[in-house]
Amino acid sequence: MVSPTLESFIARMPKVELHLHLEGSVAPQTFLTLSRRNGIPIPASTEQELQALFHYDDFHAFLDTFMALAATVIHGEDFELLAYELGLSLAAQNVVYAEVMISPMQHVRRGLDLREVLAGAAAGFARAARYNGPRVGIVLDYGRQYGAEAAWPILETAIACRSLGVVGWSIGGNEIGHPPEEFAALFTTARNAGLGVMAHAGEVVGPASVWGAIDVLEVSRIGHGIRSIDDPELVTTLAARGIVLDVCPSSNIRTRAVAGWPSHPLRQLYEAGVPVTINSDDPTFFETTITEEFRRAAQYLNFTADDFCAMTRTAARATFLPPEAQMMLVKTIEQAQSSLRAELGI
Ligand SMILES: [Zn+2]
Repeated sequence: MVSPTLESFIARMPKVELHLHLEGSVAPQTFLTLSRRNGIPIPASTEQELQALFHYDDFHAFLDTFMALAATVIHGEDFELLAYELGLSLAAQNVVYAEVMISPMQHVRRGLDLREVLAGAAAGFARAARYNGPRVGIVLDYGRQYGAEAAWPILETAIACRSLGVVGWSIGGNEIGHPPEEFAALFTTARNAGLGVMAHAGEVVGPASVWGAIDVLEVSRIGHGIRSIDDPELVTTLAARGIVLDVCPSSNIRTRAVAGWPSHPLRQLYEAGVPVTINSDDPTFFETTITEEFRRAAQYLNFTADDFCAMTRTAARATFLPPEAQMMLVKTIEQAQSSLRAELGI
């Protein structure tokens, strides 16, 4: 059990979320609204039916559901609504900064204008910020299954849209059969243009995928990376180079990448000195939130307030913000952590 003081600390502590997909954060009710508003049928007509879709036999079943629901989002104003609602939900959890991924190919392939998507999302986050919503950096998460060639115009748009809050470039989607190597030139271009770079790796595929991401793509952060635990040399390398794993435990359990909380490698990675952060990934689809992930990490893996403070500082230092803004964020978080700890005596 988590003590009431720790529970309260977790709820109120300042948070930084780095692994969060906009399309995976849509409230079930909003999918139903958009489905009706835009005339796009989905395989559910009530919130209950929708909830029943959120149980998966494997990663692919999850991707199928994700794709079917994401199809309801078609206009810039839809993205504005999603971003606004997400901003409010993050504010309610005391998230002070978030990096939110948008999967461009899901939308471009349906004929949407990526600039309209990004402008809509930026407007929604800005509206939420007027109601205490956090500052949000947008990261384009390119589906590796679409191949490297189709990624070039997407990356070009990402670079051109930095003024809308685009801070990073990532690859995600189906890891099997799509090693990082084919994306090397894209990552070099993204880095040279000043974007932060990360990759989903080591979620369902073993350490080779993580090695490729750090050595070939030269990422500073890995989405998941949990299979790194299978390779002691990789664990040592991640710790030595300070490469951050953005870990999403409930996501790993729901996609059956890990059998359950007790066998989740998060604590082992943390104890080996690998910088780790805790995130929700797709809160709607995995029925969780960042607050809930911290609470479960305390309950099942015995993490303490000290650990959570350290992880949050790690997250703040790993953001794709410009150095000065990042320093300000770290400072804000440290101050908020110590005053909350003093107040709660934890
Ligand atoms: Zn993800």
